[in-house]
Amino acid sequence: MNDAIRGSCLCGGITFSIRGQLGPIGQCHCSKCRKVSGTDGNAVMHTRHENFSWDSGEQLIETYFPDDDKGWHSTFCRKCGSPLPLKGEASDLYFVPAGLLDDDSGHRGYVGHIFVGSKAPWVTITDDSPQFSENIGSSRLDNKQP
Ligand SMILES: [Zn+2]
Ligand SMILES: [Zn+2]
Repeated sequence: MNDAIRGSCLCGGITFSIRGQLGPIGQCHCSKCRKVSGTDGNAVMHTRHENFSWDSGEQLIETYFPDDDKGWHSTFCRKCGSPLPLKGEASDLYFVPAGLLDDDSGHRGYVGHIFVGSKAPWVTITDDSPQFSENIGSSRLDNKQP
């Protein structure tokens, strides 16, 4: 199918494709996403389970569960360390780090910023997308930096 959006990890050992509708890209600023990415957070989008397929390298997927957190976990490539799409347990969604995409998904910019209440102090958000102190649905901050 030509309309698949493909993605891969840094070493290329793990590849996946998404067919059908993609959700918007949001930027999460929480401390876990910062650690997982090593940057200011994680640009992530979602798609339904039925739209997502692993194409290669599933045996390279490693999962990390922190001791102190119920349920939250991260997945990454055992060979190169790239964070990977995560299958939501409670929902019908995969959460896909947007930086893994090799094709242009058509997105332009973020739909919003979440967990801005715990963002790194050195980060300045410069776009006009809505900001939320925690998840979408939590209190919405105005777009001015403190
Ligand atoms: Zn890899
Ligand atoms: Zn996060």
